[in-house]
Amino acid sequence: MLIINGFSKFPRSEKLNWLKEHANLSLQTMEILDSHLHGDEAVQEIYGDLSENTISNHYLPLGLAPNFLINGDLLTLPMVIEESSVVAAASHAAKFWAMHGGFQTSVLGTTKVGQVHFTWSGDPETLQNVFKQNMELLLKSVSPLTGRMEKRGGGIESMQIHPTHRQLPGHYHLFVRFKTADAMGANFINSVLESLASQLSQMVENNVSEGRVEIMMAILSNYTPESLVQCYVEAKTDVFRNMSPDLSADQFARKFQQAVDIATHDPYRAVTHNKGIFNGMDALVLATGNDFRAVEACGHAYASRNGSYSSLSRIDLSDGSFRFTLEVPLAVGTVGGLTGVHPMARASLEILGNPSAELLMQITAAAGLANNFSAIRSLITTGIQQGHMKMHLGNMLRQLKASKEETSLATQYFAKRTLSYSDLSSYLESIRTQNQRE
Ligand code: NAD
Repeated sequence: MLIINGFSKFPRSEKLNWLKEHANLSLQTMEILDSHLHGDEAVQEIYGDLSENTISNHYLPLGLAPNFLINGDLLTLPMVIEESSVVAAASHAAKFWAMHGGFQTSVLGTTKVGQVHFTWSGDPETLQNVFKQNMELLLKSVSPLTGRMEKRGGGIESMQIHPTHRQLPGHYHLFVRFKTADAMGANFINSVLESLASQLSQMVENNVSEGRVEIMMAILSNYTPESLVQCYVEAKTDVFRNMSPDLSADQFARKFQQAVDIATHDPYRAVTHNKGIFNGMDALVLATGNDFRAVEACGHAYASRNGSYSSLSRIDLSDGSFRFTLEVPLAVGTVGGLTGVHPMARASLEILGNPSAELLMQITAAAGLANNFSAIRSLITTGIQQGHMKMHLGNMLRQLKASKEETSLATQYFAKRTLSYSDLSSYLESIRTQNQRE
């Protein structure tokens, strides 16, 4: 294997030549890479600069989910997602709930977390005493970084030193709680933590002669259980009277409750249940240029907070009342990161009316709950495949290189039939053979 050096310094044309040679790319593929560049050079420069070694752009569709009634305001949600049924599912649920009171949302907290991990070879109590005596000085030392954030209502909320784990004797961390206003805050927090790290070791060195601090790392935690949002929909169960020809309104509500109960107790079901929630949330997170890995990692950790992986949504059904609630930690921003740089992120935020980070948390949770509602509704009535495959038909037809006429015939043929890739392929083959005979 030949290791390539200095690849990042190659101009795009050289990167492409190298790729053509090493990946044996067809001329057609090379043309696709070129044709996906943005026509406006200045815009292409923005996309190209977002990452390293960029050679083209990778499109995802931006769709709209209208009719989201959130705390009384009607919003249209921009959703970026490759899975064909997600926007339809969100729109469907949004319209249904807009007619039944809409989504009620509230932010339960916005605290983010960072840690400076270090080892300390001296007496634990001495460490705590020195820290407490010098905490104000430590805070002051980072005021050039935190001052402006404090003016926005953010900054450092609290700092403590904790032993890291009994399995790691001598390991400690400075646990810092932050408020980051309208920013997701990762870069801000990391800058403050790195500065705190060097001040911390200096502080101990200046005050204690026996023992040594060795800094391991300074980094935010993507686990933010105190940056929490709640969203629910609520109605009398009779709103479900037309959900299925086979289920009464009460039967639908009870079956829905059982479906959520299963996801509460069975991790195999819970992961898929929560994935359905993230279908909606990720689409909003992507559209607005936020960090979907951070949101996902945190959400799944939160789903395991009681020791076993469980549903992020819950259901309360009593006296003919149905309340369906999602509680999920979210670290998203409406300034910083890509939000102001990526033209489509800016457009998405504008579609939402340029919300604050707190409002974006609430909108994102509503998208998650809407998709969760639609998925469960399908699962307990028609099954998931009917709607899903109908939306996926276009993708499969494209894969099978169907002509316009074949697409129209296949759409009619499978309107009332169960669709599978092999059935569609056989159907296309049969009409192609017939056409050849004629
Ligand atoms: P950023 O670095 O762009 O900084 C945001 C800055 O905007 C703030 O520090 C502040 O100075 C300024 N600002 C202006 N108006 C503000 C307002 N109203 N509220 C708050 N701040 C305001 O972005 P960030 O939010 O610090 O970091 C987010 C980015 O960091 C994301 O792109 C993320 O992917 C990336 N990142 C993530 C991780 C992780 O999650 N582990 C690690 C490193 C970087």
